[in-house]
Amino acid sequence: MTDKDSGERKVIEGPDERYIVLCGTCGARTRAYRTKGAETRAWVRGDIIKGEKQ
Ligand SMILES: [Zn+2]
Repeated sequence: MTDKDSGERKVIEGPDERYIVLCGTCGARTRAYRTKGAETRAWVRGDIIKGEKQ
């Protein structure tokens, strides 16, 4: 896992919009949240799904 700065916020668009933070380096990501800002809080507290490129 890389440091927190490498996380990039993304919006998954659609009828049920979701917010996620994704690390472009290793692919680690948060779960997709329905509440804007929840993804950032999850990332900061380390509630992250590890990427496959480690
Ligand atoms: Zn990373």
